[in-house]
This record gives sequence, C-alpha cells and structure tokens, in this order.
Amino acid sequence: VNRPELRTSPVSEPFWEATRRHQLVLQWCAACDRPIHYPREICPRCFGTELDWRPASGDAVVYAATAMDDHVVALVDLAEGARMMTNVIGCDPSEVVVGLRVRVTWEDLEDGRALPLFEPSR
Ligand SMILES: [Zn+2]
Repeated sequence: VNRPELRTSPVSEPFWEATRRHQLVLQWCAACDRPIHYPREICPRCFGTELDWRPASGDAVVYAATAMDDHVVALVDLAEGARMMTNVIGCDPSEVVVGLRVRVTWEDLEDGRALPLFEPSR
C-alpha cells in the first residue's frame, strides 16, 4: 500500500515526535489564530512567523476521496479547520464518500513514529 510521502524537516519535527505518542498535533498561527497543515515556517495566510503547536481532536470529515486498488487516498478536513492528505482505512473503499465522518487511527512505523490514518467514526 502506498502511503502519503513522509516528508520531514526541522519544522515538521514536532508533528512527527507527537505521532510517537499517537497524538495528532497541529501548527497554529498566533496572528490569525488558524491551524496550518502541513507544518511550515510561515503562515500561508498572513505570512506570520509566530507559530505554535496544539493538540487536535482527531475528528475529521472527508473533503475528497479517490479509491485506488485496495485503499483510499483522501483529503480530510480536521475539526480544527486544517486539511490533511491521508488514507481512509477500516472500511470498503466504496463507503468513503464526501462528508463521511472519520477519526484518526495510527499505523506504527519501524522507527517509532506513527502515520496518522483515518477510519469511519462509528
Ligand atoms: Zn496567520
């Protein structure tokens, strides 16, 4: 199964460190008080550089989904307002439709980090 590319950089390190505890965190801009994902050095909305980290609920809604052979690549809108590229698992790909409520689940990686995936909330 192809998972989303694991880009890492110093700026995304806190995101990946939190995955070791199965905690989903989002970068927030102090200036416009909005979440940012994927992590970056400058807020894409207001170009603010005062960014911090806050835990996310893990609840999301499918914004767009594409069924591949045996899995689903999806864009999900997190409850906090950020959009994330991920895979939706734990159900038949045909069940993954726009508007489906999903919740984060974790796939542990060999290096101790974990990949945030989503499954239908039940
Ligand atoms: Zn901002």
